[in-house]
Amino acid sequence: MKTVTILGSTGSIGCSTVDLIKGHCDKFKVRALTAHKNVALLARQAQELQAEYAVIADKDLYGNLKEALKNTTVKVEAGHPAVVTAAGLPAQWVMAAIVGAAGVEATFRAIQQGTTVALANKEALVCAGALMIDAAQKYGTTLLPVDSEHNAIFQVLNPARMDQVKRIILTASGGPFLRKTRQELADVTPEQAVRHPTWSMGAKISIDSATMMNKSLEIIEASYLFKLKSEKIDVLIHPQSIVHSMVEYIDGSVLSQMGAPDMRTPIAHALAWPERIATTGSTLNLSNNLHLSFEPIDLTRFPSVQMARQVLQAEGGAPAVFNASNEVAVAAFLTRKLKFFHIENVVEKVLQNMKINSPSNLHDVFSLDQEARRQAEGVVAGMG
Ligand code: NAD
Ligand code: MG
Repeated sequence: MKTVTILGSTGSIGCSTVDLIKGHCDKFKVRALTAHKNVALLARQAQELQAEYAVIADKDLYGNLKEALKNTTVKVEAGHPAVVTAAGLPAQWVMAAIVGAAGVEATFRAIQQGTTVALANKEALVCAGALMIDAAQKYGTTLLPVDSEHNAIFQVLNPARMDQVKRIILTASGGPFLRKTRQELADVTPEQAVRHPTWSMGAKISIDSATMMNKSLEIIEASYLFKLKSEKIDVLIHPQSIVHSMVEYIDGSVLSQMGAPDMRTPIAHALAWPERIATTGSTLNLSNNLHLSFEPIDLTRFPSVQMARQVLQAEGGAPAVFNASNEVAVAAFLTRKLKFFHIENVVEKVLQNMKINSPSNLHDVFSLDQEARRQAEGVVAGMG
């Protein structure tokens, strides 16, 4: 039995992880589940999986969770520090699936326990990439990428032969507005923007996919995970979301991993690694007239991809600022305070205006994150 913890169990990735564990309950024992506000779902998951701990980040909801789990043996905790503590409880495998910079501390704590961390929370790696990678090395933690592109690359990349890698190619579906011009995006609503054509995901990453910020964050994520410079990370539009990414070697071989657009495949890969387990999700039907197409990305239409490359070149604290200002802009769009096509402008303005120091610890990262958020709020207010 592998002891596992899921940080962000009530989200899209969290629920897919729970689904896989339920399908293999003889193999896994759940140490802790954490969530932000969804008491009912967290309580149900904790009971179904017989979790040892259920932790709700919103401390005002402690009483509700306690009540929901009163006739069970599940231990109840609440508050942000309790989420971070849960991340550090001994477990053989931790899924880091909190969305955004809110997950940085818990993800870092999980890495510090020297275990295997399945990393979905890409924003944590973007904000504090160098610190996370150093900590993984120091504590002997194995980082397994869950993001479908990075998981695909992990499956076909030989880390001992990095000198023979010509480039990696991240595929991008292009999101719901791939064929729309920037002008046509003027009155796009949150409801339209979250409707992703191939993937079913949480609201924040769905908006990131529509702006292509998701791919920008993924370039930075890949750079840290695979120790590659921006020049060796390409992006290709692949609307079917079946080839999840590729590695091109110097001899011309291009290796890829394919699968249905269902996150249960990369999660299952991370959950069982280095073994494999059956997925509880959908699988590819290769005989169903499968059509795969690839096209270059239009960088004038999706400027954030270039921004990500500049951010990587600047190094230091720029990725944390890039991420924080994007989080503010996405939240403002979702609450109808900002137009969709202004999301990138907010990020660009904050990057231009802010004096960005290089962080040497998590405290520095949080300071940068807070200042970027403050400046981004100001830019949003000015645009509204
Ligand atoms: P989601 O919004 O569906 O779920 C987020 C989870 O984080 C929930 O359990 C929520 O309760 C928890 N959470 C949110 N704010 C929190 C806070 N302040 N404190 C503690 N917990 C908090 O998000 P998602 O789509 O599951 O994405 C999770 C992460 O995985 C993101 O970083 C995303 O980029 C990444 N990811 C998701 C997908 C996908 O298919 N959904 C694919 C690749 C990568
Ligand atoms: Mg991805």
